[in-house]
Amino acid sequence: MKKFRGVYLKNEHEIAFMREANRIGALILDAMGKEVAPGVPTMRFEEIAQEMCRFYGVRPAFQGYNGFPYALCCSVNEEVVHGFPSASRFLREGDIVSFDMGVIYEGFFSDSARTLGVGAVSEEAAGLLRVTEECLLRGVAAAVPGNTLRDISAAVQTHAEAHGYAVIRRFVGHGIGRSMHEKPEIPNFVPGIPLSLPLKTGMILAIEPMLALGTHEVDILADNWTAVTRDRKLAAHFEHSVAIAPNGPDILSLSSAASPAGGRKDAPSRAGGGGEISVDRALGRD
Ligand code: MG
Ligand code: MG
Repeated sequence: MKKFRGVYLKNEHEIAFMREANRIGALILDAMGKEVAPGVPTMRFEEIAQEMCRFYGVRPAFQGYNGFPYALCCSVNEEVVHGFPSASRFLREGDIVSFDMGVIYEGFFSDSARTLGVGAVSEEAAGLLRVTEECLLRGVAAAVPGNTLRDISAAVQTHAEAHGYAVIRRFVGHGIGRSMHEKPEIPNFVPGIPLSLPLKTGMILAIEPMLALGTHEVDILADNWTAVTRDRKLAAHFEHSVAIAPNGPDILSLSSAASPAGGRKDAPSRAGGGGEISVDRALGRD
């Protein structure tokens, strides 16, 4: 695979496989989102993740990665990332829940995350979700040839801080391809280094802003994984895997066939056409 300053540049064939991996990942996130409701134990989403990976014939990317025990990172309220699904934690009305999920399809990795409200959420929580997703989309919009990595970081940080939210600094986005974490690292704030990587067609970046209502500082819980805000205020996380195309960003982690840059879809499709699949069918309930 071609490289530019240590960053892999994917060809159309490789991008097509990355698109299918990420489309399957997005379909799984869609399915989990439909089951979010008060009273549901968070382990239910791990079950959906596992069952849908089997259905699509893909492997969960996170399970076993550095020893992470689950397919799904499920993080509730003050949990920022890397939360464990639990049979004894039940979602409550007003919670927010983040799903971060990746799959491996034909050797290619997907990675995408969303935060959802459980039932009716506070205005404070709704604002955090909205602005975090907007930060993601602004970061994505900056992922164009001719820009640098710093432009992505600046787009996220500027929008977050304009709305009074803290940008989590401990965790960053990353290149993605045949490995989950490739170069470059993509901070959600402008780092204090003078040079920045020029963005090139063929780079695939997992852009993933994490915002918090209070402090950006995090603690890691005794399970050695779950990151929580130090002040235990709410945090949200949105992530897309994005290919840099000649005419702009091409979001791969969408469940519909539509894509802003209208990329090719020549990889063999394991999820079938159209993108819509019944959760019941995938989970063998009909
Ligand atoms: Mg992720
Ligand atoms: Mg990621």
